Order: sequence, then C-alpha cells, then structure tokens
Amino acid sequence: MTLEVALFSCLSDNYGFLLHDPITGATAAIDTPDPKEIAKQCETRGWTLTEIWNTHWHPDHAGGNVALKRRYNALVRGPEQASIPARDETLRDGDQFEFAGHRVDVIHTPGHTDEHIIYHVPSAELAFVGDTIFALGCGRLFEGTPDEMWSSLSKLMALPEQTRLYCAHEYTLSNAKFAMSVDGENPDLIAAVADAEAKRAAGQPTVPTTVGVEKRANPFVTAGNAQELGRRRALKDAF
Ligand code: ZN
Ligand code: FE
Repeated sequence: MTLEVALFSCLSDNYGFLLHDPITGATAAIDTPDPKEIAKQCETRGWTLTEIWNTHWHPDHAGGNVALKRRYNALVRGPEQASIPARDETLRDGDQFEFAGHRVDVIHTPGHTDEHIIYHVPSAELAFVGDTIFALGCGRLFEGTPDEMWSSLSKLMALPEQTRLYCAHEYTLSNAKFAMSVDGENPDLIAAVADAEAKRAAGQPTVPTTVGVEKRANPFVTAGNAQELGRRRALKDAF
C-alpha cells in the first residue's frame, strides 16, 4: 500500500500536509502552520496525528507544534536550531528514520534558514521541501548565502526527476512573473507557467511540482552558479 498525502491551505498562502499510512494508521504533519486546520483535516479523515516533522523554525512552520503535541502527544522531529518548540528528536544531514516501514532521508538545505532540512521518502517518490524550493522560485535568503542556497538546490535537483516536491507556499503565479522576466524564451518555463495558470484558474494547487519540471523551468535552478542565483534572488526581492 502506498502512503497518502493530504494537502490543504493554511493561513494566507501556506500549505499544510499530512502523510498517512493506511495500514498502520501512522500520520505525520509536515510543519504546523495552523494547528486548528491540521486537527480538522485529521478529524475529517479519521486520522490520528502520530508525528510532526518540521522543516525550519519560522512560526508559519513550527508555530502549531505545542498545540498539536498537547492534543495528540505526537512525536516532534525537527532541525537543530534552538527555536523549534516541543522538539523531541533533532535531525541532521544524512539522518534516516522509518515511517510505517518507509525510509525517510533527511537532507540539510541551508539558505532560507541555517538549519533548514527537507524530508525525502524515496519509496513514495516525494519530498517535503519547506521553504527551500518553490515552483518556479526559491526561498528568501533570510539566514544563508547564495552559495549555501545554490548547494541546497543542487542537492534537491540530484533526486530522481519524477520526485514530487511539496513546497510549503502557493507562490507559483508571482514566481512565474519574475521567471518570465529573466527567461521568457524558455519553452519549458512557458509550458510550466501555462500549466500553473490553468490550475489556479480551476482553483487547484500548483503544488506538488517535480524535480524534472523545476530542473528545466525554474530560473534559480537554471541560473548556472551561486553568483547568478544571488543576483536573481536580489532582483526578485526588488521585483
Ligand atoms: Zn520560512
Ligand atoms: Fe514559510
């Protein structure tokens, strides 16, 4: 049996994710943007939250940890940074753990924050990438450097092309405007933008994207080096 992913909107533009194993009932929330909404989504499906996996410390990712731990006594896994509330287990680059018999690989992806991590589940061909990469964009460099973000994005792009990337925000259409301004002739980008516009027009999420699509269309991945990524990131912040 394959793992199920539930995706739902939280706050203004975050996504909440639940990863569920129908055999054991194990259910993980990836980040905790809105504890009430996450509990409601569990209730509706008859799922009981057993784990919380944080990607980074920002309040729209770890702000619901305490409330959800209190309600479900869920195990909280997260990166090293001190500001992860209620963390039970600290994860570092290269760590692995089991979720309902599936191996989960932890990859350190600094840039947005110093200790940002992502969760890759190879058997399910998916990764929860927090605020490292977005469809046609990448996270703001709050704590890290362009070099760090470049190497983090390179690690993600080394995953198999069919890997689905669950980004934590719906930023795609605004990313698309900037992407077209720097790489408007790229046919893969043009196709990705058309796809995102159609999905949003139909009220659907543009998440998940895939490694393959981002590799060819995302202007931060196609930048070529860290210096160019830094230039584009600065341009986008001013865009
Ligand atoms: Zn963040
Ligand atoms: Fe965020």
